Amino acid sequence: MDWASIFIHDTTWAFASEILLRCMVMYIMIILFLRLTGKRGVRQLSIFEVAIILALGSIAGDPMFTEDIPLIQAVIVMSVIIIMYRMTTWLMMKYQWFEDLLEGKPIYIVEAGVLVIEEIKKGKMSHDEFFAEMRQQGVEHLGQVRTGLLETDGKFSVLFFSDDDVKPGLPLFPKNCSIVKQVKAEQLYACIYCGQVQSLSKATQPCPRCTFSQWAEAIDGQRIT
Ligand SMILES: [Zn+2]
Repeated sequence: MDWASIFIHDTTWAFASEILLRCMVMYIMIILFLRLTGKRGVRQLSIFEVAIILALGSIAGDPMFTEDIPLIQAVIVMSVIIIMYRMTTWLMMKYQWFEDLLEGKPIYIVEAGVLVIEEIKKGKMSHDEFFAEMRQQGVEHLGQVRTGLLETDGKFSVLFFSDDDVKPGLPLFPKNCSIVKQVKAEQLYACIYCGQVQSLSKATQPCPRCTFSQWAEAIDGQRIT
């Protein structure tokens, strides 16, 4: 193996110092570019913005060390992208349908303590992901949740029932959520697929909402805040 070729190839001191300069210019360009998008940070990126960031990676990276790409070309490309980005966000602000097209709509995942079946069947997020998101917001069981909204950036917004209105619901922490084998008469059970709560005559009874037939004991603890 030719180590000199892998590490150095035909790099000259002159080109190495050119890389230094190219990197410094592009670094300033990237920061300028990100400032011009008007974003405050990268925590809440929609799919459409991630696409732009990915494109930026290549636009900004290649001129740093590619001898035959003059920096002016990168500057032109970045300027065009910035103008298009600003036009797109302007159009999104002006026309709701355009925003929905690019960013998607927030989706109601939980309504009145149960999962919205049509939405979870579309598979935008797995059960585990929903439940993990809700656990991170301090939700112990679905009966505490009045509304759960999946935002377009993948975050979860939760509205809770007031303490008096908390209903029995599907436990979201794994230890409390084991599939029952035998049912007790007075116990309420929650469908582990959709959160439907009811009493059962047998453990393999199909759920009337989703036809799934695995149940866990429902819990009705209030939220501790
Ligand atoms: Zn169900």
